[in-house]
Amino acid sequence: MTKKITYSVVAPIYNEIEIVDEFCKRVTDVMNSTGETWELVLVDDGSSDGSTERILELASVNKNIRPVIFARNFGHQIAVTAGLDYTRGEAVTIIDADLQDPPEVILDLIEKWKEGYEVVYAVRTEREGEGWFKKFTASLFYRIIYRITDVDIPLDTGDFRLLDHKVVDVMNSMREKHRFLRGMSAWVGYKQIGVEYKRAARVAGETKYPFKKMLQLALNAVTSFSYFPLQVASYFGFASAGLAIIAIPVVAILRMTGSHFFEGQTTTLISVLFLGGVQLISLGILGEYIGRLYDEAKGRPLYIVSRAPEEE
Ligand code: UDP
Ligand code: MG
Repeated sequence: MTKKITYSVVAPIYNEIEIVDEFCKRVTDVMNSTGETWELVLVDDGSSDGSTERILELASVNKNIRPVIFARNFGHQIAVTAGLDYTRGEAVTIIDADLQDPPEVILDLIEKWKEGYEVVYAVRTEREGEGWFKKFTASLFYRIIYRITDVDIPLDTGDFRLLDHKVVDVMNSMREKHRFLRGMSAWVGYKQIGVEYKRAARVAGETKYPFKKMLQLALNAVTSFSYFPLQVASYFGFASAGLAIIAIPVVAILRMTGSHFFEGQTTTLISVLFLGGVQLISLGILGEYIGRLYDEAKGRPLYIVSRAPEEE
């Protein structure tokens, strides 16, 4: 029998040596103030800066800390997934380790959980210490996702959220490889509510989410929750076919009346390039979906753990 605990906190850590100590201290203070049993599941996502050793040291003196050490870097979403797999709490909070999500907000989330909400997500009202490019792309990202996906994923909401253990169980049973956790936790349904908070600046270190990883996350979000990009190809197909059907009599009439309006290589070249471009883009979109299908078909494990927490 695994031990039952009231609160779990899950945090992924990738090369955050300057932050680990302070993060654990802040979480410990906040969680102790609840007076309930709690655990902090720290997932080391293949760090190479000594964070791994530090996590193990901290866990040896603080029994509430349970370390999950990955065999290599698997990415933020997978690290959080592994954390969820190991939690034993009635209510589970996902939080970033860089203290951009203030641990004190967990108490507000718990408040709502006690009122009976099963998913309590934290909504960013302000973002400190992030460049305009990150803010702009993030804002655009949330709005595009909101429009084109089939589930209502709340705006300006990251992974910082509290999940009831029922929701965690459902999410743990969804073993898709390309994961967009905020979408998945919206998809499950249940009673959901947002709590506003001010996103702080990073305490130290740099973002581990460069533009390439953000783009990857956005692609996962879209492909996991929408067929819209696939449909765009058909819309384009109908539009250009329609245009061609109209163009045929128009050009015939022009020619009969002696006009030279549509003659020449330029028009041919432009339309060939345009259609060629549209076709290649459609192929690329198809490729994104097929690549993901292929990853699912391979059936590899989501992550590899080199050291799992001890069971009590
Ligand atoms: N992280 C991770 N694996 C990665 C990238 C990031 O575990 O491959 C962790 C990171 O240590 C941090 C959290 O995910 O605790 C959020 O990352 P970050 O702060 O760099 O993202 P941002 O807040 O800039 O979007
Ligand atoms: Mg951050």
